[in-house]
Amino acid sequence: MKYIGAHVSASGGLDQAIIRAYELEATALALFTKNQRQWKAAPLTDEVIANFRSACEQYGYRPQQILPHDSYLINLGHPVEEALQKSREAFIDEMYRCQQLGLTLLNFHPGSHLMQIDEDACLARIAESINIALDSTQGVTAVIENTAGQGSNLGYKFEHLATIIDGVEDKTRVGVCIDTCHAFAAGYDLRTKEDCEKTFACFERTVGFKYLRGMHLNDAKSEFGSRVDRHNSLGMGNIGKTPFSYIMADDRFNDIPLVLETTNPDIWKDEIAWLKSQQRVEEPA
Ligand SMILES: [Zn+2]
Ligand SMILES: [Zn+2]
Repeated sequence: MKYIGAHVSASGGLDQAIIRAYELEATALALFTKNQRQWKAAPLTDEVIANFRSACEQYGYRPQQILPHDSYLINLGHPVEEALQKSREAFIDEMYRCQQLGLTLLNFHPGSHLMQIDEDACLARIAESINIALDSTQGVTAVIENTAGQGSNLGYKFEHLATIIDGVEDKTRVGVCIDTCHAFAAGYDLRTKEDCEKTFACFERTVGFKYLRGMHLNDAKSEFGSRVDRHNSLGMGNIGKTPFSYIMADDRFNDIPLVLETTNPDIWKDEIAWLKSQQRVEEPA
């Protein structure tokens, strides 16, 4: 089963995100459970939690179809102790909000070394941050996203994701989300079917599909290997439509949220319908 959707706005209430996904005829969604550009948010009230849970039930979204994303301010590999602490606390809060909402995944960008520590030291900090968050919460999987490698962001190589997972004690609650735009910008080609075969074979060898908990489906305004993170609508960027058809027809991408973060929300409904049309028709057994 393919779960296909978009990162929808939660303005007006978290339950509104569910309704927006439903209106797009989406079978998956992503959302922020708090303002993504602020450190602090008021704790979730019983009413907000109840409204969200009942919207999920009413519109038919289960936790495995929902991929919440954390705040952009959090840096779990921060080189400075005090700032690292602040990020760790904010991340635990994000995990706890997911737990309260009955959600089971939290997607985040691994972290940045800010040119102050080396890559390995930063990756070790990120793994330790995840360990602390998993110890402080229950039932939520930490889903590390690959990055374009802009600035000093780590996670642009599949090896980075593997190293972080290696440092996480509870392997049952860690996973990854692969963003197609980020992969392409980081030098993993996806333009042809052969490129897709190669890139995902590399992913399987390095990380493993058993850790894949979600995908971000984005075309790229950025150039191949540019390490620049600029999304585009499907088929309108430098990647083209091929990998999206490829993913839709491949069972390795079943049963996880496949989420658009493309640049024009006005065509999300069409993009979702097109993705659905690319699914392989199941042969009767
Ligand atoms: Zn993404
Ligand atoms: Zn991005």
